[in-house]
Amino acid sequence: MKALVYHGPGIRSYDEKPMPVLKDSTDAIVRVTKTTICGTDLHIMKGDVSTVTDGRILGHEGVGIIEQIGGNVSNFQIGDHVLISCISSCGRCTNCKKGMYSHCENGGGWILGNLIDGTQAEYVRIPFADNSLHAIPAEADVESIGCGQEIWCDAGDPQ
Ligand SMILES: [Zn+2]
Ligand SMILES: [Zn+2]
Repeated sequence: MKALVYHGPGIRSYDEKPMPVLKDSTDAIVRVTKTTICGTDLHIMKGDVSTVTDGRILGHEGVGIIEQIGGNVSNFQIGDHVLISCISSCGRCTNCKKGMYSHCENGGGWILGNLIDGTQAEYVRIPFADNSLHAIPAEADVESIGCGQEIWCDAGDPQ
């Protein structure tokens, strides 16, 4: 598949990468139909985000269609049209239960396009899919919600 890949400060390229695969039973694989960049990506490209390393697929915004689900995903089915949250959430830890998803204690938080490969690709693996995807109502205007999950960025970006 094609993906936008970070290769160090100021260096990115549109590369051929392996298709993502399910790793955990709570994962989903989403075919990305729309994605975008965000101010955080600009910080990454300047080299300001040390957790993003050479080879990482960028991006933490997107909408798409679910292509595969793990055996413990119960809220979604293959073919569902979903919004990908920029913040992944296990939904079970103390912080997630308090709504502080960016402080997930089980490996969630801002991981897409940071600690794991992100959404600026044809396909993306979404951990904790039940709590990290949102169903898009049939009547929704996808053009207006494609970048609708800027909660962390608005609250957390350095100025
Ligand atoms: Zn963002
Ligand atoms: Zn959590």
